[in-house]
Amino acid sequence: MTTTIEITKANTSKIQDVDFENLTFGKVFTDHMFECEFKNGSWQTPKIVPYGPLTIDPSARVFHYGQAVFEGMKAYKDDHNDVWLFRPEENLRRINKSAKRLAIPEFPEDIFMDSLKTLLEIDKDWVKPGFGNSLYIRPFVIATDPAIAASPALEYKFFIICSPAQSYYSGDVRVLVAEKFSRSANGGVGYAKAAGNYAAQFYPTSLANEEGFQQIIWTDADTHEFLEEAGTMNVFFRIDDTLITAPTSDRILDGITRKSIIQIAEDAAMKVEVRPITVTEIKAAAKNGSLKEIFGSGTAAVVSPISAFAHKDEVFEIPKQDPSFASIFKEKLLNIQYNKSEDPYGWRQPII
Ligand SMILES: *Cc1c(COP(=O)(O)O)cnc(C)c1O
Repeated sequence: MTTTIEITKANTSKIQDVDFENLTFGKVFTDHMFECEFKNGSWQTPKIVPYGPLTIDPSARVFHYGQAVFEGMKAYKDDHNDVWLFRPEENLRRINKSAKRLAIPEFPEDIFMDSLKTLLEIDKDWVKPGFGNSLYIRPFVIATDPAIAASPALEYKFFIICSPAQSYYSGDVRVLVAEKFSRSANGGVGYAKAAGNYAAQFYPTSLANEEGFQQIIWTDADTHEFLEEAGTMNVFFRIDDTLITAPTSDRILDGITRKSIIQIAEDAAMKVEVRPITVTEIKAAAKNGSLKEIFGSGTAAVVSPISAFAHKDEVFEIPKQDPSFASIFKEKLLNIQYNKSEDPYGWRQPII
């Protein structure tokens, strides 16, 4: 390790107070967090400090213009108490791609990786062993300097906070295909994990919730004909035995789970098509019985099977498959993530 990190340990640990059997996602955080300030044109000394509230000037641009990006990743503990990350260099690459789009300075790769591993080493007791248990890791960058001018900030803070998570069963996920609202547009920021993308989804999603749908399948802003993402996940369709997902673009986030699933499917000689897929096509496939599955993919749930979709007052139920492609991919990915199987791809990385 080449990075010098200033470490201030917490006086006491909160870990005994945490009920690891009953965690609500994203509510409990570990004892420490990482922070690094950008000012005078460069990233300053990286620090690990006790987790706690921040003091930020009310005029900071993050509050006014949403100049903020984030990532989502996980650490997993195997049966020998070793802690693993899954393709972390992809998250690093992506946060810098997001940062660039939001005019935020990129963060140095070696500092990110060394800092993340040091933080996890310090808080490793918070990563619980057992399939489904993990530590959710949230790196994020915000514009902090006190000035409300509508221009890129001169000062930023990069943080990493960590929250213990359990696998959760999301129940039957019923989705509404977007006909009016959009999450992204050509030339926009859909491909970035920009904070504002998520705020903009809350209202349309709450309207869908009122109609009994948990999520929205987002379509292209121009025609609402091309299926792009499901909620905050990428989306896959299985028609007969062919797996189909939309190509990434400036409207679609380049999910790490998505690309891992594509790779596993191709290597298993499954039929995979990465191409635009339309509402008309899946409605026809649902009607003639060839639509076997729809599932979302993302770090939080790995895969999230969708049991029904609605479009223009028509509801299509998707019969359960046993075994489903979704369950096959989930098991293969979890086995790699928890060090239970060979990792022919080199996706798994130890924290030390
Ligand atoms: C984070 C995210 C995904 C999933 O990405 P992973 O790298 O698989 O976790 C998909 N779509 C959106 C919009 C996202 O924000």
